[in-house]
Amino acid sequence: MSQTLKRILVTGGAGFLGSHLCDRLVAQGHDVICLDNFFTSQKQNIRHLLGKSNFELIRHDVIEPIMLEVDQIYNLACPASPVHYQYNAVKTIKTSVMGAMNMLGLAKRVKATILQASTSEIYGEPTIHPQPESYWGNVNPIGLRSCYDEGKRCAEALFFDYHRMDQVDIRVIRIFNTYGPRMHPYDGRVVSNFIIQAITGQDITMYGDGSQTRSFCYMDDLLNGMEKMMNNEQRFIGPVNIGNPGEFTMKQLAEMVIELTGSKSKIIYMPRPADDPTQRKPDITLAREKLGWEPEVPLRKGLQKTIDYFKSLNLADFRKPTDSTAHKRMGMYFKA
Ligand code: NAD
Ligand code: UDP
Repeated sequence: MSQTLKRILVTGGAGFLGSHLCDRLVAQGHDVICLDNFFTSQKQNIRHLLGKSNFELIRHDVIEPIMLEVDQIYNLACPASPVHYQYNAVKTIKTSVMGAMNMLGLAKRVKATILQASTSEIYGEPTIHPQPESYWGNVNPIGLRSCYDEGKRCAEALFFDYHRMDQVDIRVIRIFNTYGPRMHPYDGRVVSNFIIQAITGQDITMYGDGSQTRSFCYMDDLLNGMEKMMNNEQRFIGPVNIGNPGEFTMKQLAEMVIELTGSKSKIIYMPRPADDPTQRKPDITLAREKLGWEPEVPLRKGLQKTIDYFKSLNLADFRKPTDSTAHKRMGMYFKA
């Protein structure tokens, strides 16, 4: 990894992954600009960085252009939880597409290297398992998840077109479900939901029969992969899967959370949201070969750290979930 100090922009820098990335970059001595509109995050994720001389916070929406002098851009700005990205679907598409165009335009002008936080969602309901990068995916183009899935797919297309047409130095990573401290306790994702429910003695909300699978990556592993990709000396542009190939059913996840928290919560079964992928597991051969990267933190260990974090929070400090959650719009969101 290069030791040269750089000016680095992190869009979505106050979010779960963005704030940890800012921590790392600030500690390495880089000049870090965190740009965020605080749609799904709160200042508390980056409050401890505010006094540092090499950290700057800009409240800004990536759908508007901005002019900055930087050497690297990590483009993370986008709601990531289904509950959040379906809250204002049109805004989600604008954030992915116009945000990517604005940041790519900036990268082009100032000749910065730009990394896109893409997603395993671009594989949709996968018919190939595990998913290699060569798989083009099986995405519903008009469904409730399309604002996110197609927005991210369009962003990938833009990245590769700016690279082909304007030689912009791009990096694209496809992130598989990542969890850890600083996830928003009410973001509606499965790890945060199950842990909060378990430690507050509420029912564990299982969508469907719990046989659907996901592969969960601890945030430190993910960030190692993200930084390796940005700084790889071969200038490998991707796309590359960054995720943990350990695959678990949601039932297994719930049981592990109950065991680790010692909770008496019961699992309740609710309808499964439409287009909820049945299975997801990254093929990480390419990341191993090109980046020498693989995850190290097993789910049980990462969950324990995440549980400890959620237990340390005063939940009253956090904004409650929106009314626009999947289960409050049953008719629209669920399979018959
Ligand atoms: P997060 O919701 O915690 O962070 C996203 C951040 O982007 C938030 O701080 C939010 O306020 C900000 N943001 C949203 N819209 C914006 C806009 N228009 N302008 C400026 N800022 C905006 O989510 P996260 O888990 O940290 O995800 C970060 C990135 O990684 C996202 O792009 C997401 O799609 C991608 N990703 C995450 C995962 C995961 O499992 N965590 C998986 C795949 C992809
Ligand atoms: N899920 C669940 N209960 C919850 C939240 C989610 O059973 O309270 C399920 C959801 O239906 C999906 C999986 O957990 O099958 C992962 O959901 P999440 O929203 O975390 O991420 P994504 O679907 O985007 O992978």
